[in-house]
Amino acid sequence: MRRFGPTVFAEMSALALRTGAVNLGQGFPDADGPASLLEDAVAAIRSGHNQYPPGVGVPALLEAVAEHQERFHGLRLDPGSQVLVTAGATEAIAASVLALCEPGDEVVVLEPAYDSYPAVIALAGAVQRSVPLLPGPDGFTLDRSRLEAAFGDRTRLVLLNTPHNPTGTVLGAEDLAAVAALAVRHDAVVVSDEVYEHLVFDGGTHTPVAALPGMAERTLTISSAGKTFSVTGWKVGWVTGPAPLVAAVRTVKQFLTYVNAGPFQPAVAAALGLPDEFYAGLAADLQRRRDLLLEGLRSAGFAVAAPAGTYFVVADPRPLGFADGTDLCRRLPELAGVVGVPVAAFCTPGGVAAQAVEPLVRFTFCKSDAVLHEACDRLQALRR
Ligand SMILES: *Cc1c(COP(=O)(O)O)cnc(C)c1O
Repeated sequence: MRRFGPTVFAEMSALALRTGAVNLGQGFPDADGPASLLEDAVAAIRSGHNQYPPGVGVPALLEAVAEHQERFHGLRLDPGSQVLVTAGATEAIAASVLALCEPGDEVVVLEPAYDSYPAVIALAGAVQRSVPLLPGPDGFTLDRSRLEAAFGDRTRLVLLNTPHNPTGTVLGAEDLAAVAALAVRHDAVVVSDEVYEHLVFDGGTHTPVAALPGMAERTLTISSAGKTFSVTGWKVGWVTGPAPLVAAVRTVKQFLTYVNAGPFQPAVAAALGLPDEFYAGLAADLQRRRDLLLEGLRSAGFAVAAPAGTYFVVADPRPLGFADGTDLCRRLPELAGVVGVPVAAFCTPGGVAAQAVEPLVRFTFCKSDAVLHEACDRLQALRR
């Protein structure tokens, strides 16, 4: 693990603290989740739900996750054998990779990639095969020929993420079908990180990989209460899929954390049953804030495409004369009093994706209107 030093996210958050800059680096909301969710957690603590919960998760949450997958995605699951509660999506990803990969097995990953992916692939002794998502004026596109070339005899897993952090891309039907066909051809399991499943904009929809023909039997689907209910500190996630695969993940999870989040689990179970208006309102509200930030970035002189989902927009500062996103992020607090993170930090150094995204900076819009307005005002300083 020597090559995994402190992350650029920690560096940028420390920089924001030190300089008093507006932190649009790390993607955590600055408002709390639904009041009923918070009250339910308090009530659970007060009523004694404070000891080890069952290893797979409390029954109410297992049932609520299964109901949620059917209600939103038409996926039918047995709550007793096809759902596992984890310490956030992060543990679900780690336990899945550790459970299913032997040393030397290959894992296909879209790059840029969420920062835990390369680390956990290294922990498993597996080998990362990266496929670039390449930036263009209308957003990022998956390079299908490179996707096909990344698969081989040793491919064990595809670690997919849609809606995608950091690019905001929602993979389209053709991309998903291409991934599915290759997974079937190479007998690979898809581990699909869908933590932004409810954060899709402009009337778009999220399609779980597991909903594609023939994919339910080879897909582990991962999500988390953190992003859906704006409680990233609670670390309540889950993984669903075929019973034998979920059992394998459970075997690893029991030795990573054993159990987690006892009093938060019943609260999340109740929240998953919130009416459709909650989910629609969440996406609509975030879309409005996305548009606020897009407008501010454009008027400050960045080139930006509207992301189809997630908490993030990727901005190209080249029209302002900056060609290196990492260098710009280090200077941005001083230049404009704002913090972002370089997209290159999500890529293997020197790789195809790293080169393609070198100038780009990721900003989050999961912040209050006041914070976003302040950031946008400050960014105007770059024009001068
Ligand atoms: C935030 C995030 C996670 C981590 O989720 P937790 O529930 O906080 O562990 C995983 N994957 C992606 C793509 C994320 O953005």
